[in-house]
Amino acid sequence: MTTTQQAEISEREEDIVMYATLNGVATITMNRPKYHNAQNGRMTYELDAAFKRAVADDEIKVIVLKGNGKHFSAGHDIGTPGREINDSQERAGMWYDHANKEGGEFLYVREAEAYLGMCRRWREIPKPTIAAVQGACIAGGLMLAWVCDLIVATDDAFFSDPVVRMGIPGVEYFAHPYELNPRIAKEFLFLGDRMSADRAYQMGMVNRISTRATLDEDVRNMAEKIAEMPRMGLALTKQAINNVEDLQGKRAGMEAAFAWHHFAHSHNELVSGDKLGGYDAKKMAEKNKQQGAS
Ligand code: ZN
Repeated sequence: MTTTQQAEISEREEDIVMYATLNGVATITMNRPKYHNAQNGRMTYELDAAFKRAVADDEIKVIVLKGNGKHFSAGHDIGTPGREINDSQERAGMWYDHANKEGGEFLYVREAEAYLGMCRRWREIPKPTIAAVQGACIAGGLMLAWVCDLIVATDDAFFSDPVVRMGIPGVEYFAHPYELNPRIAKEFLFLGDRMSADRAYQMGMVNRISTRATLDEDVRNMAEKIAEMPRMGLALTKQAINNVEDLQGKRAGMEAAFAWHHFAHSHNELVSGDKLGGYDAKKMAEKNKQQGAS
C-alpha cells in the first residue's frame, strides 16, 4: 500500500464532523484539523446531516458551528487526499449527478448543489446559528461563517477571499456586499488581504471578539441566553431579517454572481485547461502567505 493510499484510508476513517448537545444548544464541530478543516464533499454532507439533526430535535434552540484545531476553516478542499471532487455525491437538492458530466456542466452542477445550494439551505435553518471562529477563515470557510446568524471571533482570527487570484469573482456564496459595505467588499476582494477580527468587527461582520482561551465559554453564554427565548419567536425573527436582505437583492445578486463565477471557471478551463486557473491548495497557501493584512 502506498503512503497516499494509507493517508486516504485514515482520512476516511476520521470522524470529520462531531455533534454534541448541552442545555438546548447543539455544537457541530468540523474535525479535519490536519487539513485546517478544508471542506470536502463528505464534510459538507455530514454538516448537513448534523444541522438536520439539530433542527429536528425540539430540545435544541440554538446551533453553534466551530472548527477543531488551529483554524476555523481554510476553505473548500482543493488538494487533500480526501478531496473526492470527481466522485458522485449524495445530494440534498434536486440537482442531478455531476460526476459523469463534461465541460462547464460538471462544476456548475456540483457547486450549485454542494456550495451555493447547501449554503442557502443552512442560512435558512429556522433556529439561530452562531459561528465560533479562530485562526483562518478563508474562502469556503467564509461561506460557512456567513451563513450563520452571528459570528464570534478570536482576536487572532482573520478573514480572506483570495479567489480573485484564480480569475474568479469571489466565492460561490457571494454575500460580500452584505457582510461588508460595497467599497470595503471591493477592497477585500481586489487585494485578497487578510482582514483582522478587529476590522471585521468594526465593519459589522463579526458580532463579538473573544480569545482562544474564552471562545467556547463566550459562545456558550451567548447561545444559552438566546436559548431562553421562545422557539417560534426566534424562527420568525430570523425569517423577517433574512427576508429583508432578500428584498434588498441578496438572493438575486448571488444568482448573478454565481453565473459570473462559472463563466470564470469555464474561461479558465478554456484558456489554461484548469478550472482554478492552475492554483491548487499548495500554490494558494504560498500566495496567501505573501498577502498583507488589513
Ligand atoms: Zn467555484
